[in-house]
Amino acid sequence: MVYYFGKSKTEGKGLAKTLLGGKGVNLAEMTSIGLPVPPGFTITTEVCGDYYKHGKQLPKGLMEECHDAIAQLEQELGKKFGDNDNPLLVSVRSGAAVSMPGMMNTILNLGLNDAATEGLAKATKNERFAYDAYRRLINMYGDVVMGLSHHSFEEAFDKIKKKYKVTEDTEVPAEGLKELCEAYKDVYKKSAGEDFPQDPIKQLQLAIESVFGSWHADRAISYRRIEAAKGNTEIANLIGTAVNVQAMVYGNMGDDSGTGVGFTRDPNTGLNKFYGEFLINAQGEDVVAGIRTPQPVAEMGKWDKAAHKELMEIKDKLETHYKEMQDIEFTIEKGKLYMLQTRTGKRNGIAAVKIACDMVKEGLITEKEAVLRVPASDLTHCLLPSFKPTARNAADVLCRGLNASPGAAVGKLVFTAVEARERFEAGEDVILVRRETSPEDVEGMSAAVGILTSTGGATSHAAVVARGWGKCCVAGASDVEINEKAKTITVNGRKFTNKDTISLDGTTGEVMAGEVETQEPKLSGDFAKLMEWADKYRTMKIRTNADSPADAKRAREFGAEGIGLCRTEHMFFEADRIIHMRSMILADDETDRRAALKKLLPFQRKDFEGIFKAMAGLPVTIRLLDPPLHEFLPHEAAAQKDMATELGVKPADIKKRSEALHESNPMLGHRGCRLSVTYPEILEMQVQAIVEAAIICAKKNIDAQPEIMIPLVGTAAELRILRAKVEETIEVTKAAKKHEGELKILIGTMIEIPRACLTANEVAEYADFFSFGTNDLTQMTFGYSRDDVGGFLPDYIEHKIVPVDPFQSLDQAGVGQLVEMGVTKGRSVKSKLKIGICGEHGGDPSSIGFCNSTGLDYVSCSPFRVPIARLAAAQAALKQAK
Ligand code: ADP
Ligand code: MG
Ligand code: MG
Repeated sequence: MVYYFGKSKTEGKGLAKTLLGGKGVNLAEMTSIGLPVPPGFTITTEVCGDYYKHGKQLPKGLMEECHDAIAQLEQELGKKFGDNDNPLLVSVRSGAAVSMPGMMNTILNLGLNDAATEGLAKATKNERFAYDAYRRLINMYGDVVMGLSHHSFEEAFDKIKKKYKVTEDTEVPAEGLKELCEAYKDVYKKSAGEDFPQDPIKQLQLAIESVFGSWHADRAISYRRIEAAKGNTEIANLIGTAVNVQAMVYGNMGDDSGTGVGFTRDPNTGLNKFYGEFLINAQGEDVVAGIRTPQPVAEMGKWDKAAHKELMEIKDKLETHYKEMQDIEFTIEKGKLYMLQTRTGKRNGIAAVKIACDMVKEGLITEKEAVLRVPASDLTHCLLPSFKPTARNAADVLCRGLNASPGAAVGKLVFTAVEARERFEAGEDVILVRRETSPEDVEGMSAAVGILTSTGGATSHAAVVARGWGKCCVAGASDVEINEKAKTITVNGRKFTNKDTISLDGTTGEVMAGEVETQEPKLSGDFAKLMEWADKYRTMKIRTNADSPADAKRAREFGAEGIGLCRTEHMFFEADRIIHMRSMILADDETDRRAALKKLLPFQRKDFEGIFKAMAGLPVTIRLLDPPLHEFLPHEAAAQKDMATELGVKPADIKKRSEALHESNPMLGHRGCRLSVTYPEILEMQVQAIVEAAIICAKKNIDAQPEIMIPLVGTAAELRILRAKVEETIEVTKAAKKHEGELKILIGTMIEIPRACLTANEVAEYADFFSFGTNDLTQMTFGYSRDDVGGFLPDYIEHKIVPVDPFQSLDQAGVGQLVEMGVTKGRSVKSKLKIGICGEHGGDPSSIGFCNSTGLDYVSCSPFRVPIARLAAAQAALKQAK
C-alpha cells in the first residue's frame, strides 16, 4: 500500500503510473537518478479505490504502514514527527495517473501544532518562518480537510495586515504572524466547531482521507468527464488518486529561499530555453496563485547564481533522462535547491514539432520517436493563420460559440451569401453571419474569410463545409442575435452593423470585436522535416477531398497523393451553372433535360480538366451526382420569383416542381445512384465530361487518372446496371472523339449503406474499388440524422451513451465492424480490390489508426487535414509494427 522514496531506498522505482500516480512515479524516479528530492512515501491509487469500495474507510493496516514509513523518514532526516523541538513536517499531496491540474487537494506543513511551532522557531532560529508555516497549515487544513470557507481566513489576514500597515504577506513581521495564528485558530474553531487538531497523526490520517475525498469532488469529476469527452480514454479508466506524503522543504525561510515552476523548453514556441518563474520567500502555490508577481527564472542568477546554475544542470539531466520536455516544480531553502515535481510538459502543436525535431538533432530521440511524439491533430496549430498572442490577450471578447473549424478570421460582417460574394469581389474581407447555413449559401461561404452561425452545431452544414475548406468557423454562438433585415447583430447588448469588423477564433470559438492581428503559418523547416519522416514510415496513402483545381493544388502542396472524393454537386452551384441545373430539373421530359445537361457539359469538362491537370500523375476519384435534386431549387417565394424571371417560366411552375420534389427523408430519398437509375442522362453527361477531359489531357500529355465513383449503392444490381451504363458512355465518347489510345478509367463505388457492407462480395463483382463513405454509413448504422444530431448528441456524450461524436471519430465497435466486413467480403472475391475511406473520419487520427489496421489502401480527407493524416498514418504504422 505504501512505497518509500529517499536516500535509504526507493521502492516505487519502475512501478506503473496507474499505481503510484504521475507525481509518485516521478518523485521515485527523480530520487533514483540522484536529484535532490525531499524524501517521502506514496500511498497507491488502489488504496483510494479500496477506500471508496468500503464506504470511505481507510483499509486496515494502512496507518501502520504509514507509521513505519514516517519512522524511516525520521531516521533519514534526524527529525521527529510531532516533536516539540525540531519537528518533521510533511506535505500530503494528491497525484493521479493523469495530471488534473489544480483539481485536487494538497496540504503543506502538516505536523505543526502550538508546541511544535515554538520548537520549529527555536530550531531554525526563525520565528517568523515558523508562524508563517503554521498559519498556512491552519488555513489549508481548514480549507481542504474541513471544507471551511476561505473567506473568513482572508478577513483575519487583512485585519493583521492593516494593523501592521503593510500590503504584502511577506511584510508581516513575526509578531503579526503569531497573532494571525491565534486569529486563524479562532476562525477554525468557530467554523469547524472544534479546536484545530494538535495531534499530528490525526492530522495525517484526515489529510489522507481528504485527498481521497477530493477524487470525487464535483470539479474533479467534471474535469474527468470533459477530458474523456475530448477523447482522453486514459482518464476515464482511472481508479483513484495516489497520495504522496513528503518531507517539507521551505521556500519561505527568508530572502535566501524561494519557490518556482517552469518548463524545460518554451511550451509556446518550442525554443530550447528554460521557461519559468520564481518567487523569493514563498511557499507552494504562491507562484501560481497570483498573490504576488513572480520573476522570470532567467533573472534568477542575479539572486542566487549557484542555485540557478544547479537548476539548469538539473534541467539538462531531466531531459537526458526522460528524453522529453518537462514541467517542473522546485524550491530553494536557504540557498539549497530541491525538486518537488516533474512531468511531461504540455505544449501547443508548433512547439511540439520544434521540440521533436530538436531532440532528434540533439540525439535524445530517434526519428520514429519524434513521429510518434507529436499529437497529429495538434498539427492544425501549424497550418492555420493564428492570432498574435499579444493581440489575442488584449482582445475584446464578445461571446463564445462552438469552435467548429479552427483558424483566425478578421472581416466585416455580411448577412447574406449574395452580399458576401459582392463585397468579396470588391476586395473586402468579410465574415458571413447566418442563423445557420444551407447549401444555397456555399457561394457566400467560400467568399467569406470566416463563418459565424448562431444556431448550428459542430456537425452542422456550416461546420462541415468550413472544416472541409480549412475555413474558420464559429457555430452555434447563441449570444449573437441576428437581424438580417437591418443588417445588424446584437451581442450581449452591443450592436454591430455590416460596416463593423469582428474577429473569429475558430480554435477557441470566441467572437471578438474589431480587428485582432494575425500571423501566417510556416510549413518549411521543422514542419517539413517531420512530414518527411512521417512519409518514410507510413504505409497507407493519403488522398484528399477536393472539388476544384485550387483545392486540389493546395492539397497536393500539403502532400496529398490523389483525390479520394471529388464531389460534383458543388460544381453546379456557381452562378453561371445553377441556371442550367435548374432548367434541367424543371424539364418535363428527357429531351428538355438533355438540352439543359448539354449546356452543363462544357463546364463540367473544364472543371475536370483543371482538376486532372492539378493532380497530373495521381488518381482522381469523381463521385457522380449525389444530393436530391430539390437542393438545387430555391425554397423562398422571392427567390423562386427571381428564378422564374431568369428562366422565363411561371413562378407557380417552380413552386409546383419544388413541391413535387419534396421528400420527408431526403437523405434516405431520391439521391445517389438512384438519380442515375431514373435519369441516366445525368450520368451520361457527367461521364462524357470526364472522358472528354481525359482525352484533352492525353492530347496535352497530362497523365489523367480518373476513377468514376457511383454513390449510395446498396445492391449489386444497382452497380451492375450503372457500371454498364458508364462503360457504354466511355466507349461512345471515345468513338465520338475518335480517340484511339487507351484510357485507364476505374469504375467503383462508395460504400455507405450498411447493406453494401453486408453484401460486399456481390458488390465487388462490379467494382474496381471501394471507398467507404463513413458519414452516411455512420448516419445509417446509428439511425442518427447527421443534420439533426445537435439536438441530442451532447446529452448522449454527457451520459456516456456514446464516448465521442461518431461523426467525428469512427465508431469502431459498430460502424467499424461494417467496414471490416466490407473489406473482408470485398477482397474475398477480388484480393487486390483497392479500398479507401473518404468520410470526415479520413482526417481523424484515431479513425486513421483503425483504417491502417483494417488494411485500407488510403484515407482521404480535406486538404488542410492532409498533413495530420500523413502523421497519423505514420503513427499507426509504427504502432502496428511494434
Ligand atoms: P498540484 O498537483 O496542485 O501542483 P502539489 O502536490 O504539487 O499540487 O503541491 C502544491 C504546491 O506545494 C506545489 O507548488 C508544490 O511544489 C508545493 N509542495 C508540495 N510538497 C512540498 C514539500 N514537501 N515541500 C515544499 N513544497 C511542497
Ligand atoms: Mg504540482
Ligand atoms: Mg454520402
